[in-house]
Amino acid sequence: MKAWIGLAALACVLTACSGGAAADPPERESAPAAPPAPEANVVPAPPVNEVTSGPPKEKEPGPPDGPPAEHASTGPSTASGADATATGSVYNGPRNPASAVVGSSAKPPKEAETGDRKALSWYYMKKPKGQVPGFPGDTKAYTDSMKALWVGTGKKVYLTIDTGGNLGDIETLIKSLKDNDAKANFFIAGYNVRKNPDYVRRLVKDGHLVANHTMTHTDMNVQTDEQVRKEIEDYEKLYQEVTGEEIQPFFRFPYGRYNMHLLKLVSDMGYTSVFWSTAMRDWEPRKNGAEDPYNDIMNNLHDGNIILMHQGSPENIEALDRIVKDIKKAGYTFALLNDIEPPK
Ligand SMILES: [Zn+2]
Repeated sequence: MKAWIGLAALACVLTACSGGAAADPPERESAPAAPPAPEANVVPAPPVNEVTSGPPKEKEPGPPDGPPAEHASTGPSTASGADATATGSVYNGPRNPASAVVGSSAKPPKEAETGDRKALSWYYMKKPKGQVPGFPGDTKAYTDSMKALWVGTGKKVYLTIDTGGNLGDIETLIKSLKDNDAKANFFIAGYNVRKNPDYVRRLVKDGHLVANHTMTHTDMNVQTDEQVRKEIEDYEKLYQEVTGEEIQPFFRFPYGRYNMHLLKLVSDMGYTSVFWSTAMRDWEPRKNGAEDPYNDIMNNLHDGNIILMHQGSPENIEALDRIVKDIKKAGYTFALLNDIEPPK
């Protein structure tokens, strides 16, 4: 139990979440940060670590993606000035100069913490079974020029499989979807597409949607605008090279880390950013094996559910067949993002 709380607290520090509060408090964005109780209903984005990490370090212009200790400086507890009490959606970005981006338009850390470049980290607030979760107050500030999705409507589930880290057991994954005639949405980092282009071709052939998740799976907050554009455009080219088709206009920020400026930038490039309404602590081994992803998903199942599942978690893949079967039994169909209807 102690270890669990420790991990939860650490994950919270990493993702700057606050926890333990009642669902959907209106002032969450200004509430003080605190480690969550084990039953906390705030579900943060994954930390930058092994399971969700990007390609080998030498190729990465962004933050380190090693063990969590490297990220201890990114949480609110070490923030200075106004951010010292920030919570929830605030991610202060790497402070280690060694990980800073070198470039003509790279922003100094101070500037990156304010205004429309203030780093944000996606999260949601779990509600009782069957109910749509609460979402960050930041979403209320999204404009029409910041196209984004985090939940749909109706008896549809959008399974999004994130492959920013290990590819894991591809065969079981593909089979579990095929056997159940379920379609999924894949966000596969470009370096993984390069590693296994056949995998991507098989997914497209099976009718799944594969969308843009950047080339290097780096926190976009520490990249310059030029770098972000290049990450996205290089992915488009690679996708076309590999599949012979144009990519569908959906984008996921690695680690759910973004800012308002980037949300607009990505939107201006024709993309809709896709967040989620279910995520799991699947960047670490699951205490109860495949039971954990099964319960995490089934206990938060709701209309228009956008589920984030990391492909690199063996427990997820082991549980997938049962998850898909039981979601269908509950009356939902597995849909692609291109037919989503967000709530009005
Ligand atoms: Zn990812």
